[in-house]
Amino acid sequence: MKSRGVLLAGNWKMNHLQKDTIQFLTALAPVLKNSPKTNSQMRIYIPALSLETAVKKVTADSIPLQVGCQNAHFEKSGAFTGEISIPMLQEIGVHQVLVGHSERRQLFGETNETVLKRTVSALDQGAEVLVCVGETLDERNLGKMESVLQSQLEFLTQNETTRKAFGNKLHIAYEPVWAIGTGVTASPAQAQEAHAFIRNFLDRKIGPDTANATRILYGGSVTPANFKELLGCSDIDGGLVGGASLKIESWTQLWALI
Ligand code: PEP
Repeated sequence: MKSRGVLLAGNWKMNHLQKDTIQFLTALAPVLKNSPKTNSQMRIYIPALSLETAVKKVTADSIPLQVGCQNAHFEKSGAFTGEISIPMLQEIGVHQVLVGHSERRQLFGETNETVLKRTVSALDQGAEVLVCVGETLDERNLGKMESVLQSQLEFLTQNETTRKAFGNKLHIAYEPVWAIGTGVTASPAQAQEAHAFIRNFLDRKIGPDTANATRILYGGSVTPANFKELLGCSDIDGGLVGGASLKIESWTQLWALI
């Protein structure tokens, strides 16, 4: 058994209407209740408009599922059209936030600076944050995997709030951009190499206790066919799953592999 426990986190992105959410959670409830796992958790980052529906369903049916938002703004309120604040999430019972997903970085101008701001603000307000890092294919082919990860992580290891939160309210998802939604998965060896680099980096910059306590999830075309082998790697503490989290069959198959 993994000492840090396993976290299976889904990312629905911009998929599923409210009725699909209810249907999915209705099917999920017996699976989670009939196969409880010690030291492992399931979480899904649900589209913002369905979060309240999901929280109500999870609460009413006592489903042991953590519900998270796919992003959150760093200000508590103000002139930020289209954004969602942490107090708005907390008001409906959401305390988990995903920050810095590569789609946010690539399509919506998210930078290491804004990732840090969102993360610090969420942590200061009591939320738990999963920050995504990862290199593009070009960066990997140029031998820059480590330097990209280092620059993405350095922001988080230099700030006092994030330094203190690692391993407790702050965890990392390693998502090589070339593996997200492409059907190409990092091999277990490639993933383990990156995860070990991240853990060693946290060890060097903050310390061994923090490095040991921090969960590092792998994300990038995780399926029931490859998850077991990935989970077998010593520094992989779970998965952040897009495509395979959308269907109840593949999602529950992943849970069964933990
Ligand atoms: C993701 O959305 O974070 C992801 C890893 O997607 P997929 O599993 O579809 O590659």
